[in-house]
Amino acid sequence: RAKQKGKNNYQFYTPDMNFTTFENLVLENKLYNALEKNELELYYQPQVDLNTGQIIGMEALIRWVNPELGFISPAKFIPIAEETGLIIPIGEWTLRSACKQNKLWQDMGFNPMRVAVNISAYQFQQEDFVEKVRQILNETGLDPKWLEIEITESIAIKNVDFTVRTLRKFKDMGIKVSIDDFGTGFSSLAYLKNFKIDALKIDYSFVKDIGINSENESIIKAIIMLAKNLKLNVIAEGVETKEQLKFLKHQECNESQGYLFSKPVPSREFEKLLIRNNVFSIA
Ligand code: C2E
Ligand code: MG
Ligand code: MG
Ligand code: MG
Repeated sequence: RAKQKGKNNYQFYTPDMNFTTFENLVLENKLYNALEKNELELYYQPQVDLNTGQIIGMEALIRWVNPELGFISPAKFIPIAEETGLIIPIGEWTLRSACKQNKLWQDMGFNPMRVAVNISAYQFQQEDFVEKVRQILNETGLDPKWLEIEITESIAIKNVDFTVRTLRKFKDMGIKVSIDDFGTGFSSLAYLKNFKIDALKIDYSFVKDIGINSENESIIKAIIMLAKNLKLNVIAEGVETKEQLKFLKHQECNESQGYLFSKPVPSREFEKLLIRNNVFSIA
């Protein structure tokens, strides 16, 4: 495997490789330089309070545009970054950029908001991950309560003891934690009470079926009820229509994000949203 040979070994296309393998090698080689060539950028998507319409947070989402390959979706390159270990420097850059940007907006006088950062499995499992986060908060001066770490169920249950310990440290530091893509991991609910978390994020795959598939509507209702009983915040992802919004409000979902409000946008665009009014229509 390429990743085991290290970054200084050239890889050649051989007939037994399929196209995907070859494509991944090309991506991998370009990804090694993406950070230093400034090809990565963070976009931000507002998270909206469904009681007030106010932006109360944002999710930082990474974007990669390579001069030769064009735009490459994070769904495609994050797994490669994980396999190669590149996710460590990339993940650190992401955390630092998101914290720095959030602090800057606070210093500019905007209402303080949370910034949510996606953390991948390999990154979360590093022994020094908590220390890294602490160091970045110190460096950027962002109050820990305005940082939210997003992990998936599958990351959380990989090593339950480690997760319990890590999440307790984040809790003690005052950092928020949410479970991303909740409901897609088919994991036991029993662990939830042992994890110090603050929010569940309802996956887009359920939200898109509102008004179409009553089973998925039932799953959404169950997740909202579960969150309420565990006193957790609940955020619906991928809200695109008024109908979906109406359903979520009716079910007393607290927060949502999606194209209905705004796509993820570059920081300059996000700033315009903040300047304009900071409030979305939720009627
Ligand atoms: P995610 O964390 O579940 O992010 C939600 C995805 O849904 C994002 O895709 C977002 O752009 C998209 N989305 C938001 N609203 C809507 C909507 O109304 N409709 C539809 N159809 N999609 C919507 P994106 O940005 O392509 O990211 C895909 C995944 O890549 C993310 O899923 C996350 O798992 C990962 N990712 C993104 N940025 C980072 C990062 O900085 N670090 C790590 N480790 N993973 C990241
Ligand atoms: Mg996410
Ligand atoms: Mg998600
Ligand atoms: Mg996802």
